[in-house]
Amino acid sequence: VLDSSLNKNITLDDIFISVKTTKHYQYTRLPIILKTWFQLAKDQTWFFTDTDNQQQQNQTNGHMVNTKCSASHQRKHLCCKMSVEYDHFLESGKKWFCHFDDDNYVNVPRLVSVLQTYNHQEDWYLGRTSVYEPVKIYKKPTNQLLFSFWFATGGAGFCVSRSLALKMLPVASGGRFISICEGIRLPDDVSMGFIIEHLMKKNLTLVPEFHSHLEQMKLLMSESFRDQISFSYSKTKNVWNVINVPGFDSRYDPTRFLSLHCFLFPHFKFCPR
Ligand code: UDP
Ligand code: MN
Repeated sequence: VLDSSLNKNITLDDIFISVKTTKHYQYTRLPIILKTWFQLAKDQTWFFTDTDNQQQQNQTNGHMVNTKCSASHQRKHLCCKMSVEYDHFLESGKKWFCHFDDDNYVNVPRLVSVLQTYNHQEDWYLGRTSVYEPVKIYKKPTNQLLFSFWFATGGAGFCVSRSLALKMLPVASGGRFISICEGIRLPDDVSMGFIIEHLMKKNLTLVPEFHSHLEQMKLLMSESFRDQISFSYSKTKNVWNVINVPGFDSRYDPTRFLSLHCFLFPHFKFCPR
């Protein structure tokens, strides 16, 4: 029986995996990614940063892009990076644009299998929300509700099909994404939601397998790790928000990503046997 719900034509090579990073995290967050999931998607993953690091440029076979956006957490500069990510995706000719942060672990085989259930020739915006209601835009000074929209949390990762990305071209390509961010004065992921839901009139499709550290990571059960697309971690006031996974000592692996990688891929070179 032919299973028409699966689009087996999609392989890892059809996906442009884009990771936003910065000079500040080049020696903390990036090495963990390079050691783990990047090894499973070396030719498909690109890093968008704001510095030059020759060693990492070699390690990634030239996949570090210096966006020349400034290294700060300000809206404008984060939007600058997203804008460059989007432009590089368009240039790549790939079927799916998937964005992640540098505190995400991407479960590469699962990302591929989930995307196989959607048609890249249709308009898809896949991700996870972290808010309980849509963003609402009011008219000043009367406070009349103008419109509202949902957005996928950038820190959980999200994917956009090529068909939809091409429709956004007139408003978002060639750096125009930055102008939109500045115009509505909202962060990069919110601006993506604004463009797709409000300007393109395409709704976000909720894919709960994307995860950001806005959730409590320990609530994810290890039995379900294989089904998840992304994971994250954070540390606030010396308290880590991390997944609960058996493996390496927490002093050696505080983010738990090395342990997660060995949980998913036990035969990997650095995993105990
Ligand atoms: N980031 C960046 N420039 C900065 C700070 C952060 O490009 O000056 C990136 C960072 O590498 C990550 C994302 O923005 O991919 C989110 O940063 P972080 O996790 O520090 O903050 P959060 O928004 O999750 O609290
Ligand atoms: Mn983060």
